[in-house]
Amino acid sequence: MAKMHIKSGDNVLVIAGKDKGKKGKVLSVFPKQGKVIVEGVAVATKHQKPRQAGQPGGIIKQETAVDASNVMNICGKCNKATRIARKVLEDGKSVRYCKKCNEVFND
Ligand SMILES: [Zn+2]
Repeated sequence: MAKMHIKSGDNVLVIAGKDKGKKGKVLSVFPKQGKVIVEGVAVATKHQKPRQAGQPGGIIKQETAVDASNVMNICGKCNKATRIARKVLEDGKSVRYCKKCNEVFND
């Protein structure tokens, strides 16, 4: 299982698939499946029938999970899509950081 470098709340860029080039915020992560749900990415449209007579049916748009390897984090400091690396600080805490500008991500 690949280690997930993406966390809920991260801003990411889609680098593969039909939503390539889209940016969005990570809504949820599924580390076991290696998948993430990104706001506005891989949106599936469902038609919902009215639950009760007299109520209008509706179209529900909902994001579906995409492969975590298809997205890259966007660094909040240099604003570039980046590979996230990990490093261990002097106090033993492991943090994620931007490989481009070395900015440490807040986890
Ligand atoms: Zn950066």
